[in-house]
Amino acid sequence: MRIPRRAPLVLVPALAALCLAPLAPQAVADPAVASGGSAPAPEPRAVTRLATDEGTGGAVTSVDPEATRIGLKVLEQGGNAVDAAVATAAALGVTEPFSAGIGGGGYLVRLDGRTGKVLTIDGRETAPLRSPKRTMFLDPATGDPYPFDELVTSGLSVGTPGTVATWEEALDRWGSRSLRSLLRPAAELARDGFEVDQTFADQVEANAERFAQVRSTAALFLPDGEVPAVGSTFRNPGLGKTYDKLGRQGGKLFYRGSVARNIVRTVKAPPVLEGDLPVPPGHLRGKDLKTYDVRVRKPLTLDYRGFKVHGMGSSSSGGSTVGQALAILERLPLSSWTDDRVQHAVLEAGALAFADRNAYVGDRDFVKVPDEALLDKEYADERLCAVSMAQATPKPLEPGDVSRYDGRCEPAGEGERTAVEAEDHENTETTHLVVADRWGTVVSYTLTIEQTGGSGIVVPGRGFLLNNELTDFSLTWKRRDPNRVEPGKRPRSSMAPTIVTEKGKPLVALGSPGGSTIITTVLGLLVDFIDRGETLEDAIAAPRATQRNTVWVEAEPAWLETWSGDLEPFGHLLRETTLPGGEIGAATGIEFLRGKQLVAVAEPVRRGGGDARVVERD
Ligand code: GLU
Repeated sequence: MRIPRRAPLVLVPALAALCLAPLAPQAVADPAVASGGSAPAPEPRAVTRLATDEGTGGAVTSVDPEATRIGLKVLEQGGNAVDAAVATAAALGVTEPFSAGIGGGGYLVRLDGRTGKVLTIDGRETAPLRSPKRTMFLDPATGDPYPFDELVTSGLSVGTPGTVATWEEALDRWGSRSLRSLLRPAAELARDGFEVDQTFADQVEANAERFAQVRSTAALFLPDGEVPAVGSTFRNPGLGKTYDKLGRQGGKLFYRGSVARNIVRTVKAPPVLEGDLPVPPGHLRGKDLKTYDVRVRKPLTLDYRGFKVHGMGSSSSGGSTVGQALAILERLPLSSWTDDRVQHAVLEAGALAFADRNAYVGDRDFVKVPDEALLDKEYADERLCAVSMAQATPKPLEPGDVSRYDGRCEPAGEGERTAVEAEDHENTETTHLVVADRWGTVVSYTLTIEQTGGSGIVVPGRGFLLNNELTDFSLTWKRRDPNRVEPGKRPRSSMAPTIVTEKGKPLVALGSPGGSTIITTVLGLLVDFIDRGETLEDAIAAPRATQRNTVWVEAEPAWLETWSGDLEPFGHLLRETTLPGGEIGAATGIEFLRGKQLVAVAEPVRRGGGDARVVERD
C-alpha cells in the first residue's frame, strides 16, 4: 500500500545504476553547426536536462528540454495548465517531429483544480469516410494485407489528424491565452533551430531509407542527403510559418483552409521522388477534415485501494486495460507480497486484461465497449480463475465472458485452446507530457503520429509529418473484431494518460510512450507507486517488462538481470525486447505532495532523458 514518500527504498544494483546516475542536470551544449539551411547558426543555447525537480507554483515535464522550458514560461507568466500543455505540445512538434505533431492525434486528461472534476479530450485520428471496409489494407494483386513496412509509408495509412482540434477545444473550454500566443515560442524555436541530439539523429537514421523516397521529407530531414549531425542546429522554417498562420487563423486553416487542401493533395499524391510508393494513395478528402471533431468525455475511473484512477476511455484501450489489470490486482494483497510474487501477478494481470482488450475494445462510437464488466470486482475474481499465482499460465489466454459472470471459478473445460496472439502494429515513439499549475489544475497528455516518423510524408512547405495511425486498425477485416476498420472510425489506441486522485485532490499524474507497451508501463508505474510505495522517480527509472498476452514476456536487459532468477520458478518465457534501444517507455509524471509541493519527474535515461521543471524550486 502507499507509504509515505521518501521512505528508504532498497534498490537492486541494476536498478540503482539506472536510477541514480542521471539525476543531476547534464549540460549537453555543444557548438552548433548549421544544417539544413543557409542562415548562420545562432549562439547555441545551453541545454540542460533535469530528471527530477521539486518545488511549488506549477510544473512541466516532457521528453524534451526546449519543450519543457516553453511550457514552464507560460506558467511563469500566469498561464494555466492547459495553456502550458498546448505550448509544450507545439514545441514537441518541433523538437520531436517523429513522435508528435499537428499531423497526428492524441488524448488529453484534465483535472480541474477548483472542482476536482476530470474530463478528457479524445483527439484521435479517424479513418476517411471513403474507407473501404473489408479490403482497405488488402493488396488486390495477392488478396493479402500489404506488407506492413510498405503500408506504413503511404497515404493509405493517414488518418484525419486531431491534434489541432484538441488544442482548440482545450483552449476554448479552459484556456486563458490565445492559440496564437501559445504557438509563438514553438514557431520561433522552429525558425531559430535547436540542437540535434542523439535521439533525433538516430530517429532520422532509422528512417533514412523511406524519408529519402519522399521529396518534401528528404528536403527537410535529410539536408544534402545526410542525417543531421549531433550537435548541429536543426531548423524548420516551414513549420514556423505554419504555426504563425495557425495562430492567426486557428483550426479553420487546418481543417478547411489551405493546409487542409495541402494535406489532401499530399495524401492523394505523395510527393515521391521516383516512381510510386508500393501502396496506393489514401482516401482522405476535404470532407474528412471539415467534419472532424474531437470527443469530450468523462474519464474512465476506477477505485483502486482508496484512490481514484482516472484514465482514457475508448477510443483508447489505455484506461480500460490499465483499469482492468488494476481491478484484478486489487483482489490480491500485493503490499504484503514479496517482490517476485508481485512481478508475477502484474505479468498475469496484464495478459488477462490484454486478452479482453483485444476481444472487446474498439472505438465506442462503433462498438459497445463493456467497460463496466472490465472494471467489475466480480468479473476480476472470475478472470483470476484463469491464472495461478504460483505458476505462469501458457499464453495467449482466452478472453473472458463479459456477458455472464458471477465471480466464481468454473471447472476448467476440456476444450482445445483457441486463443491466438493479436496483431500488434503499434509503434513505440509517441510522447507524453504532464503539466500542473498553481491553481491545482493538472493536464496529462499523450500525443503521437504513430510510427517513429509517422507515414514518412511531410506536407510540402508545411514542415510536419502526416501520421500513419490507421495501421493501428486490424489489417484484415473480421466480423467480430472491435478494431476492424470502418469509415469515420478511430483506430484502437493504447495511449494511457492518467491522473490519480485522493479525496478529489491529485496524487500523481503520469503517462508514457510505447505503443501497446504504454499500458503495461503505466500499470507498472501505478503498482510501484501505490502498492510498493516507491517514489515516482524510482518507478519511472525502474527497468521494465511487458506481458501483453503473448507467448513471451519481453523485457529490458536490466529487468532481465534483476528479475530472471527470481521469476524462474514461475516458468515465464522471458526474452529481451526488440524495441529500439532495448527500451520500454520513456515516461513522465508529477507527484503531488502535501502543502502544494510538487515533484516533477522525467525519464532519466531512456531516449536520452527528458526534462522536468517546477516554477519555484525550494
Ligand atoms: N499508435 C499508438 C497508440 O495509439 C501509439 C504509438 C506510439 O506509442 O508510438 O497507442
